[in-house]
Amino acid sequence: MSFDVLVVGGGHAGTEAALAAARLGVRTALITQDPEKMGLMSCNPAIGGIGKGHLVKEIDALGGEMGRNTDATAIQFRTLNTRKGPAVRATRAQCDRALYARRLGTVIREDPGVTVVKGEVVGLVTRKDGVKAVRLADGRELESATVVLTTGTFLEGLLHFGDDQRPGGRIGDAPSTGLSGCLRDLGFPVGRLKTGTPPRLLEDSLDLDAMTRQDSDPGAGPFSLWGGGTSLPRRPCWVTATTGRTHEVIRSNLHRAPLFTGAIKGQGPRYCPSIEDKVVRFAHHDSHRVFVEPEGLDSPEVYPNGLSTSLPLSVQEEYVRTIPGLERAEITQPGYAVEYDFVDPREVGSDLQALRVPGLFLAGQVLGTTGYEEAGALGLLAGANAALITRKAPPLFFNRAEAYLGVMVDDLVTRGVTEPYRMFTSRAEFRLNLREDNAADRLAPRAAAVGLLPDRARGLYEARTERLDYARRSLEAVRVSSSNPRLADLGQSLPREGLTLLEILRRPDVTVDSLAPFEEGDALDALTPEERTALAIRVRYEGYLVHEQREVERFARLEALEIPADLDFTTVPGLSLEVRERLKQYRPRTLGLASRMEGVTPAAVAALLIRVRAPTSADGPNRVKKEV
Ligand code: FAD
Repeated sequence: MSFDVLVVGGGHAGTEAALAAARLGVRTALITQDPEKMGLMSCNPAIGGIGKGHLVKEIDALGGEMGRNTDATAIQFRTLNTRKGPAVRATRAQCDRALYARRLGTVIREDPGVTVVKGEVVGLVTRKDGVKAVRLADGRELESATVVLTTGTFLEGLLHFGDDQRPGGRIGDAPSTGLSGCLRDLGFPVGRLKTGTPPRLLEDSLDLDAMTRQDSDPGAGPFSLWGGGTSLPRRPCWVTATTGRTHEVIRSNLHRAPLFTGAIKGQGPRYCPSIEDKVVRFAHHDSHRVFVEPEGLDSPEVYPNGLSTSLPLSVQEEYVRTIPGLERAEITQPGYAVEYDFVDPREVGSDLQALRVPGLFLAGQVLGTTGYEEAGALGLLAGANAALITRKAPPLFFNRAEAYLGVMVDDLVTRGVTEPYRMFTSRAEFRLNLREDNAADRLAPRAAAVGLLPDRARGLYEARTERLDYARRSLEAVRVSSSNPRLADLGQSLPREGLTLLEILRRPDVTVDSLAPFEEGDALDALTPEERTALAIRVRYEGYLVHEQREVERFARLEALEIPADLDFTTVPGLSLEVRERLKQYRPRTLGLASRMEGVTPAAVAALLIRVRAPTSADGPNRVKKEV
């Protein structure tokens, strides 16, 4: 059997990769160990959050499924950071875990462009010019010149439950064995990382009245601009906290924690530590917050966010019961850690194609990230680029000024990882430009141009843009006099000559809703709540955005300077041996990328700049072959 694109893995990266490739019209197969578990959330049943919500909006703007799937299965929405600026405001949704995976599985199975194949890939068949096929554990071979690997936490996965260790990709699933050996044989540097999850608790065994209730935020969500919205009933979360006694129990059992006994070798995410790690590293904190989150509408289980652990089950039972509200908690599934193999992300270019094996793409946790959103965004990019090369079309790239996806890829390919990489807004230098509310403006036109955005979404995007532009013009056209009797309702006083509605909207306590009665047409009434928020942010932050735009332009100048793919770095004067070796190994596509690579000094960038501006005839034409 042969396909244009083969996607290995049916997690968050694999599903977006397969759907993106299929949207671009190429014959795609998704090979996964257990098709019933496509889109399964291995850890918490939540999508979004600071930095991560931004990625989901970007996935949506690029025609991906994660936003729509979240909206359709969400049982709580919140907007985080409401008291901070618009750049760091983010959407987070609690989903029904079972419905999330079921719906995503149905979307994949019903996509006429995707064939789902049950099986485990154990090897890659390559030839001199790239990948040729994948080999399955049952002996089958599927042929394709483009393969996207999205194997998550499964490569040589090892689960830790206290002193007990067993092979597994996650609880209830076998690991993937063989494939990482094959990657090593091909020369890929393969490392080991770790992540963990808390125990699940029986909701009926908890005293919810002893905790603080946190309800859904009525103004928050949905994620998707072109989905069917949200319809499931909302469920609250509950907030409690660890106590001094919790910390005592954990401290006295550290000798049984694989994280401290040396049983776990892989590095875990520093920003998402296990409870035993928090108790040791933040010994001065008396308490850590625990969010008790529902697993679904009909699920009897809850997820105690903040209690990730790999301590033995008996210790988990003891410390969990020291937390207010959890005194009689029954554990339905123990917390555990998983160690797995990953590939150094500096081995791929900005299109996520492996530098040493053309046609092989990597995305998601196997490339050193953690999180559904990071995996989904990378999967979409890898799937799209795999499809684009089969169509001999130019690849899709995003830079740091265009998207969080661009920031993530840039960080991964220039710096590699020393721990699982997760997105934070602080990773982006052009934060004001990379907001949730303008993700579609930043990315939908590019997605539409390559064919990633379905026609319906494109139509909705164009109509939204028109409504917003018209509303802005209307705000500019109406001047409110200082004697207008309705000003009292607005709670504003104006200078004698009055102000336009646009000028009034710049004031921090004025909303688009409150201006609607002053505007005689229906330009403001026609806007959706999401568009009203987007319009207010745009108008209010225009001045800052103009300033940031100048920075973006300065950044873009270095990004635009392409390094010829065949440049011989030994002929560039002033480069140290170490810098030459590094540049030769990772072949940065642009001067901007080179400048952010570890070990590449400002002096080396200056030397490269001279050469790139004045190439010698030996450099050949200024074209790009390998992309980093
Ligand atoms: P996965 O969702 O792991 O999907 C991998 C897919 O590939 C699966 O369908 C698997 O069956 C398939 N597969 C693997 N190997 C093969 C093969 N050889 N052949 C065919 N199919 C194959 N994220 C956070 O953000 N915060 C956390 O605290 C957190 N904790 C976690 C704790 C645990 C125990 C686990 C397991 C994961 C945790 N995660 C956490 C990570 C989160 O689950 C992942 O980031 C996310 O699922 C990655 O998506 P992915 O698509 O890369 O891989």
